[in-house]
Amino acid sequence: MTVPASPARDTFALTREKFSLPEGVRYFDGNSLGPLPKAVQMQAYITTTHEWGDGLIRSWRSAKWNTLPQRVGDAIGRLIGAAAGQVVACDSTSVNLFKVLTAALRLRADRKVILTDASSFPTDLYIAEQVARLCGAEILNLPVSEFPKFLNDRVAAVLLCHVDYRSAEVYDLARLTRAAHRAGALMVCDLSHSAGAIPCNLDESEVDFAVGCGYKYLNGGPGAPAFLYAAKRHHTDCEQPLTGWFGHAAPFEFTPSYAPAPGIERFLCGTNQVIALSLLNRSLEVFDGISIEEIRTRSLELTEQFISSAENRLAPHGFVVASPKDSNVRGSHVSLRHPQGYAIMQELSRRGVIGDFRMPDFMRFGFAPLFNTADEVEYLVDQIDQIMTTRAWDNPDYEQRRAFT
Ligand SMILES: *Cc1c(COP(=O)(O)O)cnc(C)c1O
Repeated sequence: MTVPASPARDTFALTREKFSLPEGVRYFDGNSLGPLPKAVQMQAYITTTHEWGDGLIRSWRSAKWNTLPQRVGDAIGRLIGAAAGQVVACDSTSVNLFKVLTAALRLRADRKVILTDASSFPTDLYIAEQVARLCGAEILNLPVSEFPKFLNDRVAAVLLCHVDYRSAEVYDLARLTRAAHRAGALMVCDLSHSAGAIPCNLDESEVDFAVGCGYKYLNGGPGAPAFLYAAKRHHTDCEQPLTGWFGHAAPFEFTPSYAPAPGIERFLCGTNQVIALSLLNRSLEVFDGISIEEIRTRSLELTEQFISSAENRLAPHGFVVASPKDSNVRGSHVSLRHPQGYAIMQELSRRGVIGDFRMPDFMRFGFAPLFNTADEVEYLVDQIDQIMTTRAWDNPDYEQRRAFT
């Protein structure tokens, strides 16, 4: 007798169908570059041929190009727990971080410290360093666990990556935001590895500002626009530094002096990336009708399965699970560490199994709830097991990069 599939499985079998995944490939890198939704292929044709080709400049209105940043922003807002009117999709994560972190420091002009963790994604550290220089502030680098102890009246903003890009550890955004607020500081959060995979509850947690990627779990395509969240309570007071005409209260009046738009639009800068935003807009439809909680449940099933198989079958080959075993604090990817990790990833790739590698020895596998399956997880473990048993990684064609540490 066959067991009827649970409704959740039906949901995710249907979402998987919505992606154009190459034959013979098992893809565990949706956390780095989401795969192509089929509807996006069609949208690319519509946007270029009809909207641009036929509509020309008229499409700013007729195809609603002018409101794409807000419409896409609201669709992302649903996935990160933000009510409408607080998110825009534009620019890159790095550029958006520059905007919101500067805005946060200006809201706390009498304070001169940005508190962050040196293991944050490097672009965040690079941007924070410049923001600190421009605002006459300094960076205090500490492990996230130490943040509450070092929050005081000198800290203007906490810059937190919600999920660690190497280990997948999830930090308690609500608790850390409360701690920051108690000290009078603002919370600026990078959701690149959580948006679309785990709940972020921005409004409920009273996060002040957030940014994140459009091309990871949101599947917007290579170089997709990023997003930016600013809590409504800050809209009238905050000033972001990239004051382009699209952030102006009345861009088409062409006045010589700048006046910021009253709402979230003040965080826009130049002309929006119409083609890329149209594709991201379409890709987000894969999430229609599914709650982020269902997605989270599915994600945890996949990562649990991988961790328990890896502990049973891969630990004897010297693999160490470098992601939290406690599902409350684990994101949607799992990293294994192995001294031959780089060569092993190359052999996996030759076999059509795609994950990625992060220095010095992290083999990182993303489990994207919308398309990865339990069968694929087993296949991945089988392949790694075989590669170790047959020493297929020991191939002179592969760069055998070793751990530094
Ligand atoms: C991927 C990622 C980025 C990417 O930034 P871009 O400017 O969009 O290239 C930033 N921050 C984090 C935490 C990331 O994981």
